[in-house]
Amino acid sequence: MDASHGFLDPATLAVHSGRDDLAALGVHALPLDLSTTYPVIDAELAASDLDAWTEGTEDARRNPIYARLYNPTVGRFEQAMAVLERAEAAVAFATGMGALTAVLLALPAGRRHVVGVRPLYGTSDHLLASGLLGTTVTWAAPDEVEGAITPDTGLVVMETPQNPTVTLVDIAAVVRQAGPVPVLVDNTFATPVLQNPLAHGASIVLHSATKAIGGHGDAMGGVVACGEEFAARLRQVRVATGALLHPMGAYHLHRGLPTLHVRVREMQATATELARRLAAHSGVERVYHPSLPGADPAGLVGTQMRGPGTMLAFEVSGGPAAARALLSNVRVATHAVSLGSVDTLIQHPASLTHRIMDAADREEWGISPSLVRMSVGLEAAADLWADLALALEAAAASAPSNVSSAGHAIPSA
Ligand SMILES: *Cc1c(COP(=O)(O)O)cnc(C)c1O
Repeated sequence: MDASHGFLDPATLAVHSGRDDLAALGVHALPLDLSTTYPVIDAELAASDLDAWTEGTEDARRNPIYARLYNPTVGRFEQAMAVLERAEAAVAFATGMGALTAVLLALPAGRRHVVGVRPLYGTSDHLLASGLLGTTVTWAAPDEVEGAITPDTGLVVMETPQNPTVTLVDIAAVVRQAGPVPVLVDNTFATPVLQNPLAHGASIVLHSATKAIGGHGDAMGGVVACGEEFAARLRQVRVATGALLHPMGAYHLHRGLPTLHVRVREMQATATELARRLAAHSGVERVYHPSLPGADPAGLVGTQMRGPGTMLAFEVSGGPAAARALLSNVRVATHAVSLGSVDTLIQHPASLTHRIMDAADREEWGISPSLVRMSVGLEAAADLWADLALALEAAAASAPSNVSSAGHAIPSA
C-alpha cells in the first residue's frame, strides 16, 4: 500500500484500497481471476514459489501455482481490509466461522485455552463451548477476564457491540486484563467504519464479511486482520485446510467496500431514530441501542466507537408469543437471520441465532425470550417505523397479558 494512503480519510480508502495494481494491468474495475491452476514458466522458480506459499509468505508477484495457495482477486480484497482495519495484513476465508476456525487452529500447542467474553455470536459460542477444535474455554464477563487467564491461555475472544444485546465492551480494559495474551475482537457489528479494535490494543480483528462488508446479502466470507506474523500462520492453516474465500465472493465483498461508509452512516441514523421511537412505545419493554440514555455508561461512543451503530434490539411486551407475532407481521422488514444488508432484517435470537446456546445461559447473559434483534437497512425511516408500529399492534393483540385476572380475553383495538 502506498504510504500516502495514511493521510487519506477512511471513506476515501474504502473506495480506492486494494486497487493499486489495476492501472498497470490496464483495467479500472476489479478483475476476477477464476483460475484453479496457473501455467508454470520456470520449474525451479515455481518450486520456490510453492515453498513460499506453504510457509504463509504473501507476495502477489509470485506465480500462484494453484488456487488453494493464492488468488489475486482475494489478495486485493485482503489488502483493502488490512488498510481499513489499520492492520499489517488481512487473511480471508470462506465464511466468518472459517476465519475463527483458522484462528483457533493457529494457536500454539500448549496455549489452546480460550477466555470467551459472553455473549458472543451463537455459533462462535458453540464452537468454543463444544471444544470441537481441541480448545478449552472459560467464560467471563468483561471485568472477569484477568481472573480467567491461565498459563495455557492463548486467546481472549470478545465482541463489541455484543450480539444480540448491542451492549458495548471496553476493548482497552479487556486488553489490559489480558496482559500478554492476544485479544481477538469480532468487529462484524461495528464495521471498520465505526471501530478499529487494533487502535485500542487488540491483536486480532475478525469480520464476518457476509454481513455489512459485502452489504448486499449475496456473498459469504470471513476476514482476519492482524500482524504479519500471525497472518502467515493463518495462511499456512488456510493452505493446509482449504477454507478459501472463493474469488467470486472476494469480488462481491470488495465491490461492497466503496459504499460501506455511506451505507453504515445512513443505516445508523435510521437505527438511532427507530430506537428512540421504540423506547417511547408502550408495547416495548426495553430497547437496546448505544444511542439511548444510560446505554453507554463508560462513554465508549465517541471514543472507542465512532457512532452507536446499525443494530438494535428490543424486548416486546407480552413475552415470546408477542415477539413471534411481531415477526410474522412485519412487511417492509424481512423476518430472517443475518445482518448488515441493504434491507432490514429482524429475528428472534432465542429461536434462531442463539438457539444453539443453553436456555439458562441465554437468560444469564441477557438474551430474554422476548428479545427481538433488528439489523436496520437503507429503507426510509418512516416506512420502517410504520411497519414496526403495525407489527407491534399485532403483537399486543396476541399477548397473554391481554387476558384479565378472571381469565377472559380482553378484546384488543
Ligand atoms: C455472522 C457472524 C459470524 C459468522 O460468520 P459467517 O460468515 O456466517 O460464518 C461471526 N460473528 C458475528 C458477529 C456474526 O454476525
